[in-house]
Amino acid sequence: MFFIIFGFRDSKLKNKALKGNTICTKCSSVSSFDVKGTAGYFYLFWIPIIPLGKTIEFKCRKCGQHHFKETAPKDILSKYKEEPLRRPWWHFLFLAFLAYQIVMLAFTFIYFEIDSMIQESKRNAETEKLDNQKQLHLNQLNTDFTKCVSIPSLEKDSISHLLYTKVDFSACNMNRDDIKFYSVAKNNMILTLFQIEDFYAKEEADHYLFLKDVRDNINKSYKKGYNVFIGINSDMRLSVSSTNSNMAEYDFMNNTSYYDYPLKHYYENDSVSTYNLITRLEHDKFLYRHENITTKKVELDTTKLIDVWEKINAKFKFKYKTKITSLPQKIFLKSSESILPEDLRFFFKYQNLNGPFIQLGKLEVRLEEMSNRFYRIPVVSLKNPKYNDKSKRVLPVKVSPRWLLFYEDYTYRYAMDMLPDENGHVGQIIQLGQDGKPSQFVATDLVSFLEMYLKEKIPTDIQDWN
Ligand SMILES: [Zn+2]
Repeated sequence: MFFIIFGFRDSKLKNKALKGNTICTKCSSVSSFDVKGTAGYFYLFWIPIIPLGKTIEFKCRKCGQHHFKETAPKDILSKYKEEPLRRPWWHFLFLAFLAYQIVMLAFTFIYFEIDSMIQESKRNAETEKLDNQKQLHLNQLNTDFTKCVSIPSLEKDSISHLLYTKVDFSACNMNRDDIKFYSVAKNNMILTLFQIEDFYAKEEADHYLFLKDVRDNINKSYKKGYNVFIGINSDMRLSVSSTNSNMAEYDFMNNTSYYDYPLKHYYENDSVSTYNLITRLEHDKFLYRHENITTKKVELDTTKLIDVWEKINAKFKFKYKTKITSLPQKIFLKSSESILPEDLRFFFKYQNLNGPFIQLGKLEVRLEEMSNRFYRIPVVSLKNPKYNDKSKRVLPVKVSPRWLLFYEDYTYRYAMDMLPDENGHVGQIIQLGQDGKPSQFVATDLVSFLEMYLKEKIPTDIQDWN
């Protein structure tokens, strides 16, 4: 069986009488002609695709004389043209569909063109607006910086005066009398500006200490929860910070800002959400309160530390490279907002390849996690009897941003505790509580911990480590 899927076909058109009377050239009678005809089309799968020519014939009703349209007398033709035979509508179905598709395509194209033009002009306007804002803020900051005076007075600028008297500049390797001050408060925000020579030549740890000291002093002295923005102008570099560890820099020369976050917040926002601010402040107050309790700090015995560490490596065969020398004098940990203690700093000089003692980078990640968990706990339940330690060595809290995790095997996690309870030591080693259980005191310092570890007096889970 053979299917013809395309070809030509004729449709018979509906017969008609020619309108009015015409004189027949054969019988000379005044009579009417009948009109009949066919219309051809090309089809594909039984669907008419392209309409083709029509064949039209005229036939005299009296004598049967007939003419094809091409050779018909003029009067017959003119009569016919008044009411010609129409081709059935479905011959045009495919063409109509095609036309529809083309029109839709054109509209879609035009629509997207116009839309992208609109979007582009919107983006340009937005960029221009942002640029203008940045420029405005930068000018504003510049104006504010010109108000810096060398010795702030209590009457004129009490905030700067407070900082002038309270901040421990020498601890940050700075000379107080070389610094110029200006501070201004706006709703729940304080912008405090400093002009400091060679600020960027100082170590990152000095920057951090300075920012923290400024912010701590403001937070301690003003009961209201201020959001503190600190601006530094030094060596033609302008930077503003809204956290202790991150400075957003404004390029003075090129008028471009790399991060517009802190300035934007200070100059544009009159109402920063106070909720987060107050929660954060309450948590920080909790930390300050406990950090101010004097607890004993154990002295570091480096010889002992090296000795026991090498014995551990020999015995357990953890894969460590030899010492790295590039570890800077001070390392501050962003999330815990504390400087890495000397004994742990020593410890991280051994670059870890494979073993339960974690790397510095991993410590920072874990601290970030602990910090986040700490700030999510409601302030009222920061100290929870559920985590009570009878010996009062470990603070009864679920998690603390001052627990510096340094060991993590399959089951157990150990941290250096920088915020102990009243009977504890700063730098004591604790085992972190799991499944809602309290954390436990393990050793007074890192050396004692490692000695116990060497003698396997500490629960571990390193069976399949190698
Ligand atoms: Zn005739």
